[in-house]
Amino acid sequence: MKARLVQSREIAPNTRHFEFESPEWNAAFVPGQFVSLTATVGDDEITRAYSIVSPPGGNRFALCANLVQDGHLSPILFAMEPGGEIDFKGPYGAFILRRPVSDSIFVATGTGIAPFRSMLLAQLNAHPDRHFTLIFGVRHEHGLLYHDELTALAQAFPNFEYRPTLTRPPEHWHGRTGRVQQHVLEALGERRDMDVYICGLREMVDDVRAKLKDIGLDRKRIVYEKYD
Ligand SMILES: Cc1cc2nc3c(=O)[nH]c(=O)nc-3n(C[C@H](O)[C@H](O)[C@H](O)COP(=O)(O)OP(=O)(O)OC[C@H]3O[C@@H](n4cnc5c(N)ncnc54)[C@H](O)[C@@H]3O)c2cc1C
Repeated sequence: MKARLVQSREIAPNTRHFEFESPEWNAAFVPGQFVSLTATVGDDEITRAYSIVSPPGGNRFALCANLVQDGHLSPILFAMEPGGEIDFKGPYGAFILRRPVSDSIFVATGTGIAPFRSMLLAQLNAHPDRHFTLIFGVRHEHGLLYHDELTALAQAFPNFEYRPTLTRPPEHWHGRTGRVQQHVLEALGERRDMDVYICGLREMVDDVRAKLKDIGLDRKRIVYEKYD
């Protein structure tokens, strides 16, 4: 299938939000799923996965990506102009809310926020009796993707708590600091009846999983998506 870029905008240094449309798009994807984009470079076909950052509906979907210096596909994505087309397939993936839905902790670093934004926008109001805590870790304050929107969601929904954390906080920052790991354990406390969803690069995902295993959380309650 072909997707046409409608628009893209920078949402942090080297990070863009891309809006695509495709008449063939299956608008009924499940929040948390991804699409795979394919481009041809020389003789090689390169395919990479990108989580859908928008909620389902219509013939559009949005992605959010980092520019990986010396990467293969992300520079092609970043060079696209509105009206440009790219081959894609999907939706794919099983990083979706488990049923029955439990009180849950979402853990993201960087663009790992993408599937959670889709889930929160689409599904928060469907589960008013369930509590969701999002722990979002980035280095710098300007890396807090969709920060205003997530803050507004937390104000609008009493069952959603947003806990951003910075590893390189500026002086004026009064929020959480440090890596996501410690904040996940704090959010869980003594409870072992919550699901924990983790998305981001391998190192963080594996570390959070190991810490949850150490404190005895059933591995069936740990759902994760690794970007590398
Ligand atoms: C299921 C799934 C969903 C994904 N969703 C997203 C998404 O929503 N947004 C997104 O930006 N990427 C996402 N990725 C990663 C994406 O598929 C590519 O790996 C990434 O864009 C780099 O591709 P590249 O060809 O430019 O770099 P490559 O030439 O493949 O270089 C790989 C290098 O990029 C690093 N890398 C991979 N992903 C990232 C990242 N997000 N930020 C920084 N470094 C990275 C790897 O650690 C590795 O060092 C996802 C991956 C998977 C498996």
